[in-house]
Amino acid sequence: MTLQVTRATFDEVMVPNYAPSAIIPVRGEGSRVWDKEGKEYVDFAGGIAVTGLGHCHPTLVNVMREQAGQLWHLSNVMTNEPALRLAKKLTEKTFADRVFFANSGAEANEAAFKLARRYAFDHFGPEKHEIIAFNKSFHGRTLFTVSVGGQAKYKEGFEPTPGGIKHCDYNDIEQLKAIISDKTCAVVIEPIQGEGGVIPGDIEFAQQVRALCDQHNALLVCDEVQSGVGRTGTLFAHEQLGIKPDILTTAKALGNGFPVAAMLATEEAAKSLAVGTHGSTYGGNPMACAVAEAVLDIVDTPEVLGGVQHRHDLFVAGLTAINDKYHVFKDIRGMGLLMGAEVVDQLAGKAGEIIKAGAEEGVFVLVAGPNVLRLAPSLIITDEDIADGLARLEKAIATVVANHPVA
Ligand code: PMP
Repeated sequence: MTLQVTRATFDEVMVPNYAPSAIIPVRGEGSRVWDKEGKEYVDFAGGIAVTGLGHCHPTLVNVMREQAGQLWHLSNVMTNEPALRLAKKLTEKTFADRVFFANSGAEANEAAFKLARRYAFDHFGPEKHEIIAFNKSFHGRTLFTVSVGGQAKYKEGFEPTPGGIKHCDYNDIEQLKAIISDKTCAVVIEPIQGEGGVIPGDIEFAQQVRALCDQHNALLVCDEVQSGVGRTGTLFAHEQLGIKPDILTTAKALGNGFPVAAMLATEEAAKSLAVGTHGSTYGGNPMACAVAEAVLDIVDTPEVLGGVQHRHDLFVAGLTAINDKYHVFKDIRGMGLLMGAEVVDQLAGKAGEIIKAGAEEGVFVLVAGPNVLRLAPSLIITDEDIADGLARLEKAIATVVANHPVA
């Protein structure tokens, strides 16, 4: 007999590391999700920029079914065809020559940071080990990735965190110049900061970061865990900043919800991860790689990438119309379908209330920053779903504004 579970079960048995909403979705299709009672929701969150092709995309469902009947797992002592095909495609489509597979964004970043340290160790010695990251950045929740991340709240109570990490403000080249040195082994950048509040990278800044890395023999790591796989309208967001990384990490949308991640690297950098230096039991799992290969095939097409700007424009127009009526946002920004609407100061701390009211109206939106509504819908969301979701969001905003007038 199937055990009956509810939201209360979460409080009873789960480690309460997140505070999930009362809704427990049981089914999804495209940009729509349903709970057990049959209530319908429009999904503008995509599981934090994960389901770039929407829920249960029929091609992906078929690929997964087929692979499930063929081969589930082999581990790293034996390779497999889906992993080799996916690696080949990733290298063909990007700057990279080599691929390492992992299972999550944090794990891919761990690989990137270990590679950067090892590369510097091999070529310049142990003194060159400092990693520079940006304030407000987010790179994962493992002890090292949390330490590299630029948000103090995630480190609280976990000290002492690993050393050899420095931070400076994003989009501020003077601050970077002041702390980069010949001890720097890597600079890690999100081309658009996600968790930090949907803050797009400045093109000139990004190019100067690249130049500074070259000057100091430091590797440039692009964390594209949130921005990658079509999210911003190009396969990877760094392309729009006109920079070429030495290492790139991708996860989330790569598997459209199936756990798979990758660290991509140039031949020169990758040489430093020789046999035996790093590994992962599930990295390169055939199920995950088969799905990710199909995701890449679908996303990297003019139909999908070419539609991102149109959808971005619809969202911006819709959010602007809401703002004209309710005066709730002080900024609407983003790249492609990673968008942020920052609430006005009178609503500081109330973004969470809008998210909650949104869920009640039947639309999923995320918070970031902490005063930014973050929208990261499917890359192929329909115009109708955009309009419907925005109408629901408007109702939610009307409710919150009724309780907290902004005039
Ligand atoms: N890097 C970035 C930029 C992210 O946004 C996230 C997740 N929000 C991560 C890393 C961590 O990914 P994961 O949760 O898969 O470990």
